Amino acid sequence: VYTARMDGNTLVENVVVLLERLAGQSVAFEWRPSRSLQTVLVDQAQMEQVLVNLVTNARDAMPDGGRLTMTVDGAVLGADDVDGYAKPGPYVRISVSDTGSGIDEATRARIFDPFFTTKEVGQGTGLGLSISYGIVKRHGGFIKVESETGRGTTCTIFLPRTDAAL
Ligand code: ADP
Ligand code: MG
Repeated sequence: VYTARMDGNTLVENVVVLLERLAGQSVAFEWRPSRSLQTVLVDQAQMEQVLVNLVTNARDAMPDGGRLTMTVDGAVLGADDVDGYAKPGPYVRISVSDTGSGIDEATRARIFDPFFTTKEVGQGTGLGLSISYGIVKRHGGFIKVESETGRGTTCTIFLPRTDAAL
C-alpha cells in the first residue's frame, strides 16, 4: 500500500470541497479542523474513500436536509477506550456528525456486515462501512459509531498518531 505522512487536517482538507458537494445543497456543511497538528501515516486514496463513505451515509440519513459537521482533533486513549486489536496511545480523531435519522439498536448490530443495507435496491450496496472498517483496521485504527434515533449519528475514525516527537 502507498502511504503518506500528513496531518489530519490536510487529509480532510484535500477532499473537503468534494465532501461538501457530496453532502448536497440541503445540508449545512461545517468543517472544524484541529487547532494543533497531529500526524498520521495513511494510504491517502483509501482513507479518502473512507471519508466519502461516511459523508455519503450522513447525507443519506438526512433526506430533508440537516447539518453535517466534520471535526479533526487529537486524543490520548487508554486500554478501555480502544477497540480490542488497537493499542492505547495518541490518536487523531476524524468525525462525521449528522442530524439525520439515527440508527436503531437492531440495525446498529449489523452496520459493519458486508452487504447489510437498509436502503432501497440501487441506493446502497451495504459495503461502505464494512470496507471502511477494514481500511481503518489495516491502519491500526478503529471506527466508533454513536447514534441516537431521531437525533443523528456520529462516526469517528481513530488513527494512531505518528508525530515525529512520539
Ligand atoms: P449503504 O450505505 O450502502 O447502505 P453502509 O455499509 O455504508 O451501506 O451502511 C450500512 C447501513 O448502516 C446503512 O444502510 C444504514 O442503515 C446504516 N447507517 C450508516 N451510517 C448511517 C448514518 N450516518 N445514519 C443512519 N444510518 C446509517
Ligand atoms: Mg454507505
